Amino acid sequence: MKQFFKQIGKKYPITLLSLITAFGFSALILSANYINYPVNGIKDIIFILLHWTASFFGIFLITLVLNVSKYSFTLFPLFFTVSGIIAYFTWQYDVSINSALIESLRYTNFGEVRNYLTLPLVLIILATFAVGLYPVIQRFKIKLTRRDIILTLTFASLSLLVFYTVNRVKFNTLIVRSPFSIYFATKQYIEEKKEIKTNRFMLGENATIKSDTITVVFVIGEALRADHVQMNGYNRTTMPRIEELGAISLPNVFSPYTHTAQSLTYILTRADSLNLQPMFEESSFIDIYKSLSFKTIWIGNQNPVKTFSFIMNECDSIIINKPQLSDYSNQKKLDSDLMPYFNRFTNGSQAKKLAIVHLAGNHWWYNKNFPDTFALFQPILENKIISPSNREKMINSYDNATLFTDYVLSEFIGTLSKKNALLIFLADHGQSFGEEGKWLHANNTDAEKNPACFIWLSEAYKEKYPDRSKTLELNKNSFINSSFLFHTILDGSDIKSPYIISSQSVFSDDFQQEKGNTDLKAE
Ligand SMILES: [Zn+2]
Repeated sequence: MKQFFKQIGKKYPITLLSLITAFGFSALILSANYINYPVNGIKDIIFILLHWTASFFGIFLITLVLNVSKYSFTLFPLFFTVSGIIAYFTWQYDVSINSALIESLRYTNFGEVRNYLTLPLVLIILATFAVGLYPVIQRFKIKLTRRDIILTLTFASLSLLVFYTVNRVKFNTLIVRSPFSIYFATKQYIEEKKEIKTNRFMLGENATIKSDTITVVFVIGEALRADHVQMNGYNRTTMPRIEELGAISLPNVFSPYTHTAQSLTYILTRADSLNLQPMFEESSFIDIYKSLSFKTIWIGNQNPVKTFSFIMNECDSIIINKPQLSDYSNQKKLDSDLMPYFNRFTNGSQAKKLAIVHLAGNHWWYNKNFPDTFALFQPILENKIISPSNREKMINSYDNATLFTDYVLSEFIGTLSKKNALLIFLADHGQSFGEEGKWLHANNTDAEKNPACFIWLSEAYKEKYPDRSKTLELNKNSFINSSFLFHTILDGSDIKSPYIISSQSVFSDDFQQEKGNTDLKAE
């Protein structure tokens, strides 16, 4: 064996150096990505090993490419050190590099950075840099040969093929993790900034409002399907509190999109089944509220993505909870974290307010979305494997997440109860549990196209607008396209604007149910 390596070292020193460097790097740095990963049994371990191996090919590619010249290889200690720092934060705090984190780092001052500069971190910085220098010294001793360069390039192409294919087939699973996430997050960050700067047509002009005091809340739910709510006939009581509080369920809402990024833009803008252009060219309804002197806020428990970053930025202020954790994190990232921000805002002195609350709700890896005290339905998920054998546990965890959403919403409603207020909840899409062989979302199945939706009106609101609550009762079982949200929220806020289509507002006598897709029925 020793002889074999000696031979290879003689004939192909660059290839061998790259292989050893990449292996050492992967063993030390990549492994940190899996420390917080839930493991339960041999299957999970095999999955992690395969994932690690595919990522190793990415690191092998980087070292091979750097190794083509001894000068470019001097960058290796820097790459190793930066990756070491990220690995430390991943291991200690389950931090992931994403565009929201880059945004928040921009506003971090040096004083805050110093708090993180602990002794273990300093030691890691020094050690990675020192260790990273060793292969560079070796590299300077190597003389290039043609056959070595050819083998290096062959392995580089092979590694690229493996890494690219696995990443593509498995929806970016490799590139969102450290150290590749440095590139991916920076690219996303730049795209979001570009999106915010685009010129969209602003809808705010020519709007009027009669009411001088009103609080409007739009809660964007995540992946909650209508038929998992007892108000719509589900056999488990997943939302007892808001039913008790008198929320009116709309069981037959239809969402043409089953992916957060598109669905949100569709719901928040004037886009509908006849015209999708407003998703890309116009502001959302937020600009209309702003033009009428509403105080506006976006309170999110999900990190922004390019498609709706423009819309978020229409708000006067934006709060993103724990941006350092990815939306697929293994750490708890609870919607209840948003409550202090929500309370402060709704109890503020402004007479007219609009809050957009973006929940993590029923986002995948359901266990991170509810505290242990809400694990009523048992047994819950023990690992992240998506398969029929895990289906029952998936549904239990999912329904527990819904129970927790119910609790958070009831707390929101508690702070609104004495005000002239309305709260609309609409999930961006549903979820699949193996129906039609599909899982999670973005598959366009019927269950995914039927998101949960309900509307809560305060007593003061019902007194002020008795006709609206009556009309809502009449329309609640209609088949409704999720494009109704834009028109319904504005109409429900007593706002008049040339952009409101009254036949799309469930508060209006002119309301007409969706003509297409009426075959969609919640079961
Ligand atoms: Zn979603």
